[in-house]
Amino acid sequence: GLSAESYRRRNEITVTGDNVPPPFTTFEATGFSSEILREVHNAGFSAPTPIQAQSWPIALQSKDIVAIAKTGSGKTLGYLIPGFVHLKRSRNNPQLGPTVLVLSPTRELASQIQEEAVKFGKSSRISCTCLYGGAPKGPQLRDIDRGSDIVVATPGRLNDILEMRRISLHQVSYLVLDEADRMLDMGFEPQIRKIVKEVPSRRQTLMYTATWPKEVRKIAADLLINPVQVNIGNVDE
Ligand code: ADP
Ligand code: MG
Repeated sequence: GLSAESYRRRNEITVTGDNVPPPFTTFEATGFSSEILREVHNAGFSAPTPIQAQSWPIALQSKDIVAIAKTGSGKTLGYLIPGFVHLKRSRNNPQLGPTVLVLSPTRELASQIQEEAVKFGKSSRISCTCLYGGAPKGPQLRDIDRGSDIVVATPGRLNDILEMRRISLHQVSYLVLDEADRMLDMGFEPQIRKIVKEVPSRRQTLMYTATWPKEVRKIAADLLINPVQVNIGNVDE
């Protein structure tokens, strides 16, 4: 197999942080459950993408991560599968609220993330609810009441539901900010900060972004603790 250094060089991966583990260059190296390995096999995937290869071992060590990689690089499973592993370790009761919370800028993106979570998590008995604006609250509130391991939400709608006191985030211990740059461009920073106040500070926080401008650096500095940074390719600043 390739050494960590040559795999990183070949795939334009740069890492910053303390004791960064070597990438998982194959699915077998991940140690994921047979259920999850079956799902990636069924999807026809032959190897982890570079962002998955490098961010999985970091996420599995429960470290905070900033991952900067362009659209289409496989970031969703980059955070979802370690989230599944985290869920199995945490053994929380989903009736009491989600353990994994993913914030996403738009209804379309949130729905795609939920579809991916259902597709890859179903055989591991992982449940997922999606909350977004521009749709009635009733069915979403009923989904929350049924309980789910993962909530994928746009910041505006989640904040509305929090203000109604119809969801509790006290069990969240794995928080993902997906497309962080886009969420900030769309003006969601105040809502994100209000939501994060409801999440316990003892948590793992993962931030995925396509670009790394100073607004994103600022919120990363405020919300993440000693993160490992992973860049794929040229970073657009
Ligand atoms: P991003 O969030 O970085 O824009 P996505 O997570 O949406 O990218 O992934 C883009 C596409 O690549 C999706 O269709 C996804 O199912 C697929 N994909 C994810 N991981 C792999 C893999 N290891 N091998 C092949 N395709 C993959
Ligand atoms: Mg994405």
